[in-house]
Amino acid sequence: MTSSHRVRFTQSCPVCGRRVEIRASLLGCTVACQHCNAEFVASAQSDGCQHIDRSNDLLARVETALRRAEEQAAVAQGSEKQTIA
Ligand SMILES: [Zn+2]
Repeated sequence: MTSSHRVRFTQSCPVCGRRVEIRASLLGCTVACQHCNAEFVASAQSDGCQHIDRSNDLLARVETALRRAEEQAAVAQGSEKQTIA
């Protein structure tokens, strides 16, 4: 089988945080981010861990942000004279 050079993986760009598609043959090489052109070393292993962590972390942050927004909306409705410090 000679399909290994077609295998790709995704890694989060350390600069802009977006997912960058990288060819497996470029593992360990310096690659350029497709979004912000930042250069970084491609490493699939760290991506695997970071990706899972970031997914959970992102979900938690979204839930927290949503709750805060709801609380702030409730406060704003409860007291119209509330001023934002
Ligand atoms: Zn980037």
